[in-house]
This record gives sequence, C-alpha cells and structure tokens, in this order.
Amino acid sequence: MKTADIRRTFLDFYVRNGHSEVPSAPLVHPDPTLLFVNAGMVPFKPFFTGEETAPWERATSSQKCVRTLDIEEVGKTTRHGTFFQMLGNFSFGDYFKEQAIRFAHELITTGQDEGGLGFDPADIWVTVLGPGHHPDFPDGDTEAIRYWQQVGVPTERIQGRGLEDNFWNMGVPGPGGPCSEIYIDRGPEYGVDGGPAADEDRFLEIWNLVFMSEELSAVRSKADFDIAHPLPRKNIDTGMGLERVAYLLQGVDNMYEIDEIFPVLDAAADLAGKNYGDNHDDDVQLRVVADHVRSSLMLLTDGVRPGNEAREYVLRRLLRRAVRAMRLLGVSQPVLPTLLPISKELMGASWPEVLENWESTSAAAYAEEEAFARTLAAGTQILNTEAAKVKASGADTIAGGPAFQLHDTYGFPIDLTLEMAAEQGLKVDTAAFRSLMTEQRDRAKADARAKKGLTTSTEAYRLLRADGESFFTGYSELAEETSI
Ligand code: ATP
Ligand code: MG
Ligand code: MG
Ligand code: MG
Repeated sequence: MKTADIRRTFLDFYVRNGHSEVPSAPLVHPDPTLLFVNAGMVPFKPFFTGEETAPWERATSSQKCVRTLDIEEVGKTTRHGTFFQMLGNFSFGDYFKEQAIRFAHELITTGQDEGGLGFDPADIWVTVLGPGHHPDFPDGDTEAIRYWQQVGVPTERIQGRGLEDNFWNMGVPGPGGPCSEIYIDRGPEYGVDGGPAADEDRFLEIWNLVFMSEELSAVRSKADFDIAHPLPRKNIDTGMGLERVAYLLQGVDNMYEIDEIFPVLDAAADLAGKNYGDNHDDDVQLRVVADHVRSSLMLLTDGVRPGNEAREYVLRRLLRRAVRAMRLLGVSQPVLPTLLPISKELMGASWPEVLENWESTSAAAYAEEEAFARTLAAGTQILNTEAAKVKASGADTIAGGPAFQLHDTYGFPIDLTLEMAAEQGLKVDTAAFRSLMTEQRDRAKADARAKKGLTTSTEAYRLLRADGESFFTGYSELAEETSI
C-alpha cells in the first residue's frame, strides 16, 4: 500500500464511523510553549482542556508533526523521523475506551480489499497500564485488558507497563489518563522474543490510544502526579505513525525506505557514488539526508526560514546536517538543488501547499546551503591553521577551544571537525569541547531565565500555570539543540 493510500484508508474508516475529517494544522502553532506541532492532538488541545467546545463529537485527522527530540535517533533506529504524519481519531466526550479499542482493532485487522489495513492478528501485541504503578489504578487498566481480550487479542500478548509508557499527561495539571499502545511483531529476524517490553525494534509501536479519563491536580514529572477526580466528559485521543505503518505494509526495513522518502535517499546515494546497503555508517548518513531534506521542505513550506532563534535554528540545523552528511559521504558540491525537488514531487502529491510555496522555499533552502558552504570554507581555513600549529609543536591533538570556536562561530558540527582533523592525522580534545558546550548552554539557560525573571524551572511552571498554559517543552527541547 502506498503511503497516500494508507492515509486515505485511515481517514475513510473513521469518516464512515461518524468522524469529521479535519485538515492538518500548520507545523508552526500559536502555542508559545511548543516549537512545532508534535502530535495530532495539539490543534485540539482547547477542546480537551475544556477551554473551548469542539464543533464535532468525533474527528479524524492526518497531522504534520516535527519532533526535534528525535533528531539524534534518525537513521540509527528504523522508526524515528524528524518529520512524520500522525493519523488520529478523537472523541470529545462521545465514545470512550471500549469503542476506541474496537475501532482500532477493526481497522488494522480488516483486509485491505474491505477498507482496512490488513495486519495479521497473530502479529499484534498491545500494552496497557500495569498493576501497582499508581494508587488510583492499583490493579492497572483492567478495563483495557478486558476490551482487548473481547476483540480477540490473547492475554499473553497484552503486556502491562509503567506510567512512563502507559499514562499520558500534559506535563501540567489538566486532563490525562492511561493509554494503550499497539505493536506489530516484525519477526525473529528483527530481534528477540518477549513483546515490546523486551524489544522495541522487533515489536514496532504503531499506535497510541489515549483514554483521557482523569483530571490531574499536580504533575511533578511524567510518572509522578496526583489525580483529583475522574473527568465528567471522557475523551479519546489517538496517534498512529503513518510512516511506520507504511514501512510495515511496504515490506521494507525502515521508514526511510518508504515510497514518500526513498527516492531522495536513492538520489543522495547516486550523488555520492555509494551503494545503499554496502556500509552501515554510509547508510545512516544517507537516511539522515533523506529525513532532513523532507523535514526541511515541510518546515519551509509552513513558513519557517533558517536563522539563529528557536524554530529558525532547528530548520538551519536540519538543512546543515543534511549538507554535512553529504560532505561526510564525499560530496562537496551543492546537493539541495538535486534532492529538494525530488522530495517536493513526493510530498506535493499529498500536501498541495508544498507545490504552492515551492518558489520561495527552494530559494531559501539553496541560499542556506550556499551560506553554509561559505562558512565551511572559512572554518576550514581556521582548522588548517590550527592543525599546522599543533603539528609544528609536535603534538597530535587540537585543543577544545578552537573546536568550540569552529562550532560556535562557524557552525562546525564536532564530528565534522573530528573528521577533518583525522584527515590530517590529528585528534581533538572532545572532553574539553564538551565542557565548553555545557558552560555555554548553562549560560544560555541562565540568560533565558533572567529574561523572564525566573530562577528555577519550578517557577517557570508556576508562571505557565498562572497563564493557563499547559505544555512546556520549550526549554527541554531547546536545550537539546547543542550541535548542528
Ligand atoms: P517511540 O517510543 O517509538 O519513540 P512514542 O511513544 O514517542 O514513539 P507517541 O508519542 O506515542 O510516540 O506518538 C504516537 C505515534 O506516533 C507512535 O505510536 C508512532 O507510531 C508515531 N511516532 C512517534 N514519534 C515518531 C517519529 N519520530 N517518527 C515517526 N513516527 C513517530
Ligand atoms: Mg518517542
Ligand atoms: Mg513509545
Ligand atoms: Mg507511544
């Protein structure tokens, strides 16, 4: 099944079952505490918190998402993209747990000819909140277990897990509740037996069903919170990873090999004169390129431009990481004019705004690649001068200071510095580099707090609560952005 057909199948199934199809919101959302929309529920948040009344009782959507927290996973795991599409069905005080489980099971097990996704019921595993993790749920989510058994999932393939994995909350007081995740067994060639609790590569998480049943009064961490009372109107929020389902149904090994992404990877391999599959490290770089080109395209399409602040910096980092990965593969001429148009054709078929905005998005991407090339040229000179000094002194290690300067002033990622130093037979003092990075990050954090007149993150949360804000991923996500 093509990715576009899977999306259509999902949305049509829920429309047939009384849901309104709601278009994706743009990646940039007015919520100031979020860098980008990172889940299907984000545009619906006011309906879940009760601030607004939903115009529908049931909705379904295919939401564009960007998760910068997953950037380091890209290409290394088989399942993490910086951009991905989350399919979801939502109930605003209408149906609840039993029906949500019935819908999900029916959609994934019904044959593709009859409007389903056609997974083999024998490959399905589910997780639920297990016993003994929260005083308000001493026995765990026994209802969910019962409903899964009723649709035919054998008890031995229903696993109980803790609050980290199977309780959803927003990080602040408000709605929350247990969740149940659906995994597909990819087979013994992908890892060890024992279900998702044993191996998340072999058992691939495709879908998270959130049963929003409780009002939380205090949230100290994801797994440490107090429940005030059950919600009078219970909600359903689910998120299925479109690309994950696509790679299972297309019989490929990972999400970078699906129809919407692979042609970019293939073209990158061609440019580099590499055979995808020959060398693990090269393959990882090729997957990073394919992923980052696509996420950059989608961010540019939604109006983000490369720069040095927050969202703009994420885009800059993605574009430069793609270009950098190609350099590590031995390509030093511009690559985006070859790769970006391929992604545009692939994504434009489902997202018309990609085609509408193409002229200005491509111009911005190509300009950024040129700017990075100039930066690289200047940085290379600094590095060569430094290398010459080190060699003249008879040493074999470039100090942390120059490596940090290359990063800070010239946007040199540390692995590029390492690579270029190695070409000259030199090492780099990475420990010193890292401690300079940490110092800089601490300074930036202190500055950010000072700007807001805050001294601790607890105070930041208190302020946000007073403002009625419910997500606060800004600091943690931004703190992740330590290297390009
Ligand atoms: P994982 O444990 O694999 O990181 P998650 O538990 O963080 O996934 P959820 O927050 O439950 O993911 O999101 C709902 C669904 O969205 C997941 O079940 C998965 O199918 C999909 N998804 C989440 N993160 C990504 C990603 N980085 N790339 C592609 N799909 C994703
Ligand atoms: Mg995750
Ligand atoms: Mg997970
Ligand atoms: Mg999950």
